[in-house]
Amino acid sequence: MDYYGSQITKLIQQLSALPGIGGKSAQRLAFHIVNMPVEQVKHLAETILEAREHICYCRECCTLTDQEICPICSNPVRDKKTIMVVESSRDLAAYEKTGKYNGVYHVLQGAISPLLGIGPGDIRLKELMQRLQGDVEEVIIATNSSLEGETTAMYISKLIKPTGIRVSRIASGVPVGGDLEYIDEMTLLRALEGRVEL
Ligand code: ZN
Repeated sequence: MDYYGSQITKLIQQLSALPGIGGKSAQRLAFHIVNMPVEQVKHLAETILEAREHICYCRECCTLTDQEICPICSNPVRDKKTIMVVESSRDLAAYEKTGKYNGVYHVLQGAISPLLGIGPGDIRLKELMQRLQGDVEEVIIATNSSLEGETTAMYISKLIKPTGIRVSRIASGVPVGGDLEYIDEMTLLRALEGRVEL
């Protein structure tokens, strides 16, 4: 039912298609936006468009960045022999916030989920295996402790084992099914320090 006129309804529909935005939030945002100064709305729209157009995947670690090589991979101080495998750029950000990890990352951009039809070929695994041809000493698997995260961790460890590279898994203590980004820094650090070799 179209209570608001088609323009506002269209805006509400678009907003409610975003993750985590339900119908009510979409309505609140839509009314907020139409009441904002036109200049501010233009700026918001342009920022979204620019971000979408300029952001790509880092050629080394596959995280989202606006450069060919992201700031972490291009930082000469980072230890490139230690690679932490995470599911998303948000997980990378969570570990970066702790300020205690000096290695580099590999962002899978997803996790294996037979239920959702996401197989090993649908995440950035091939890119990881290519990186392992270089000088790498340890791969720390820091996928989430959800079913998908555990499945992915197991799959990766089996792939890497034959190469002789050390593979470890962050300690559980991370709540089951919990997204890494919502876990506090202390828990993340404990999980990293308590990692176990697979
Ligand atoms: Zn990178």
